[in-house]
Amino acid sequence: MSNQKNFLYKQVGSNHNKTMIMKTTMNHLLILRKLLLIIGILYSTLLYGHTSYPKNVKCPIDGKEFTIYVTGSYTTFNTLKDFQKQGAIGDLYESYVNSCPKCHYSGYQSDFDTTFSETTKQDVLKILEPFDKSKMTDVIENEIAIKIHQYFKRDNDDIANLYLVASYFLRGDSLQITKRKELQLNCATYLTKAIDAKEYKKAETYATINYLIGELYRRIGEFETAIKYYDFAINDQNKKEWLLKVATKQKELAIKKDDDNSI
Ligand SMILES: [Zn+2]
Repeated sequence: MSNQKNFLYKQVGSNHNKTMIMKTTMNHLLILRKLLLIIGILYSTLLYGHTSYPKNVKCPIDGKEFTIYVTGSYTTFNTLKDFQKQGAIGDLYESYVNSCPKCHYSGYQSDFDTTFSETTKQDVLKILEPFDKSKMTDVIENEIAIKIHQYFKRDNDDIANLYLVASYFLRGDSLQITKRKELQLNCATYLTKAIDAKEYKKAETYATINYLIGELYRRIGEFETAIKYYDFAINDQNKKEWLLKVATKQKELAIKKDDDNSI
């Protein structure tokens, strides 16, 4: 990209230096300039596709102050079939959940911009107790956040999302396949609860969520259940146009008993 950019700079420069510039050359130059501008934008997007900024937060449990990094923007080039974004996303998923370095209280940024009553603090400390000596990982941070979200009775979809992101961390980890499948099963279970509780505002979302449940069961290796949910998605009149093709293709994998988690 860099060489191409320099090459175009030279082209523009050499045209510009000619004393006699014909009208056709001028048009050519304008096109080149436009092209250069587009490439320039593309180039900076590639370089700075992911931006994040530091933010000081205070743990609502023990008052510990620390810095978190909040994602400002990112650029997506591809999305995997379980909706994990790929591209210049930096630590988008890692910075999703933050954890207090002292007590391990974990949650979204909004979970730190808050205060709790003394009773709530004591309850949360009890939840955190088993993790006191844990070596923190992104998966454990998400699991603590899940326990806290369960305590506060947050939406099922919200909890499902934390399980889904946790499963992304273990995508390529051949030593933690059982753990990854456990996270995916929990995600599917909470998504099912979210559907039952009618947590989605748009009618079209239900087909998308049923597709995702199917996709999670396929990755776990429960192919019959997977096919059942793909069919819910495929037969849903409110589904988005793109979903039919994707769900049909993934259903074919389930029929072939293919549990590929890399796609
Ligand atoms: Zn803390």
